Amino acid sequence: MSKGSSIWTLAIHGGAGTIPHEEMTGEKKDAYLNGLRAALDAGRGILASGGTALDAVCAAVVSMEDSPLFNAGKGSVYTFDGTHEMDASVMNGIDRHAGAVAGISGVKNPILLSRAVMEKSDHVFLSGKGAEEFARSQGIVFESEEYFHDPVRFEQWRSVAGTNSYMLDHSQTKKFSTVGAVARDKHGHLASATSTGGMTNKRFGRIGDTPVIASGTWADNNTCAVSCTGHGEYFLRWVVAYDVACLMEYKGLSLEEACKTVVQNKLRPNGGEGGLIAVDPLGNIALEFNSDGMYRGSCSDRSEPSVLIWRD
Ligand code: ASP
Repeated sequence: MSKGSSIWTLAIHGGAGTIPHEEMTGEKKDAYLNGLRAALDAGRGILASGGTALDAVCAAVVSMEDSPLFNAGKGSVYTFDGTHEMDASVMNGIDRHAGAVAGISGVKNPILLSRAVMEKSDHVFLSGKGAEEFARSQGIVFESEEYFHDPVRFEQWRSVAGTNSYMLDHSQTKKFSTVGAVARDKHGHLASATSTGGMTNKRFGRIGDTPVIASGTWADNNTCAVSCTGHGEYFLRWVVAYDVACLMEYKGLSLEEACKTVVQNKLRPNGGEGGLIAVDPLGNIALEFNSDGMYRGSCSDRSEPSVLIWRD
């Protein structure tokens, strides 16, 4: 398969973690799988009709940010102070242009704000109030606190509110439900996007790997596009997304070998639970995780959409 062919590929994740079968009712499972299918559909239409990888990953992530099921946008978890602070980043493999935001509140779709940072500012990474001010100047849509209120997330937070413990989303089940997408378009370009509400009860302005280019998100047409999910502190320290690209570029590993090496041989022995999704310029896909499950899906010009939670 040559790089210039009209192949396209899309992969998405809705978070990795320990997701016990016994806690997953049929109804819940269907809701998650439908949420993943909707995100795939949003990106797939764009890629199939010759649109860009960048548009496709943003559309897939917006779809999951708009769902209360995933810990991003509308479904973001509560902070120590009972608020929502979201992180997101996007990267274009054509030229390594990137945009990221951290610790923002009220923005309906943090991924669109990341994209605005990439395309409409001279910067890569904006945070907090400044990022919100920039968002307003760009006509980015804001929502009220009520929009972000979710009774399930609120109860999760209340069970630890006022304590120093933080939770990785549904922590009893250790699920990280950050969302992400990677794509290869018909023009041979790659892109990646990742978005999260972070950890329940997080405080002190904690920021994970999601908005950090090279740790949570990476895209370069010469190697791969990667989006991560998992215990952010480990993904930051292991510079996970860029490490996959480095193994390909400097050691000549295939996409699959590089993803396995980082997730299974580097992160896992050190306690870094989670996973990642990746595509390469040939349209290969890797969906690698060291947790019990990872909400994930993929499709391409050669394969129908498929969505999965566990290793089956
Ligand atoms: N990586 C995210 C963070 O640490 C969490 C997740 O993937 O759900 O903020």
